[in-house]
Amino acid sequence: MDTIQMPLHRQKEIDVAVLRLDKIHPLISGNKWFKLKYYLEDASMQQKKTIATFGGAYSNHILATAAVCKLKGLASIGIIRGEEPSVLSPTLLQARELGMHLFFISREDYAQKKIPSAITASDIYWINEGGYGEKGAQGASTITTCFDQHNYTHICCAVGTGTMMAGLITASLPLQTVIGISVLKNNLEIMNSVKPLLPEEKNNFHVFHDYHFGGYAKHKTELIRFMNEFYTHTMIPSDFVYTGKLFYAINDLVEKNYFPSGSNVLIVHSGGLQGNVSLSKGTLIF
Ligand SMILES: *Cc1c(COP(=O)(O)O)cnc(C)c1O
Repeated sequence: MDTIQMPLHRQKEIDVAVLRLDKIHPLISGNKWFKLKYYLEDASMQQKKTIATFGGAYSNHILATAAVCKLKGLASIGIIRGEEPSVLSPTLLQARELGMHLFFISREDYAQKKIPSAITASDIYWINEGGYGEKGAQGASTITTCFDQHNYTHICCAVGTGTMMAGLITASLPLQTVIGISVLKNNLEIMNSVKPLLPEEKNNFHVFHDYHFGGYAKHKTELIRFMNEFYTHTMIPSDFVYTGKLFYAINDLVEKNYFPSGSNVLIVHSGGLQGNVSLSKGTLIF
């Protein structure tokens, strides 16, 4: 846990802490560790020895799945969006090194999550793209065991599939507010996929849709500049797909007086730093 003190926070009289899940493992980084754990437990109960899942060329979820399968002695299959490029991304190279079998499918087939006919094994345990689903949320709710819940009025996280947010909401205390920062453009239906993962009575959350910087895995100079400045002030590195947008958003919300003075804000650093390899060298100072 890192406490961050910026002049802005003192001025607004709020405390901000960062839960450094990015530090738990270099590859199975951040929230993926938590999201995968009950799927793996289920797979083991069903005696399945192969895990298969879906993702893009820079997917944190693909890399985390490859790494955790290697660790547990399981085989892994990654179904990757788009035709196979002549040069694999560093993420996919690393996944392959960890033993993951990669299958590339067209974007059209990927949209329908079509399973390539070359995959014939019958003992495969399937995990949704991004680890979306009940077991993922259940795993993510255990993130709250890493800190003392009673210390915080707000818990903030980045939102991709919304699985992590669903877990944090499920485990939240009644007077806490969970703030989600959507990293997708106009993904206004996100609550349709999050709601089924939540106990009915929970409504102590809010999702902001204005901090996507052009859409998923898109970025702008303003975001990169902020990430570098944030690092200079706090020594906390962030990734441009999720946590950079999250830190930017919370900073902006503090400036706009969204948080009442006296608030104790916890920001979940969900990892994902490996994704920065897709930026050209020198873009980030860390
Ligand atoms: C996958 C990921 C997320 C998004 O989690 P969801 O449960 O899909 O919303 C957030 N941050 C990082 C760093 C991730 O890798």
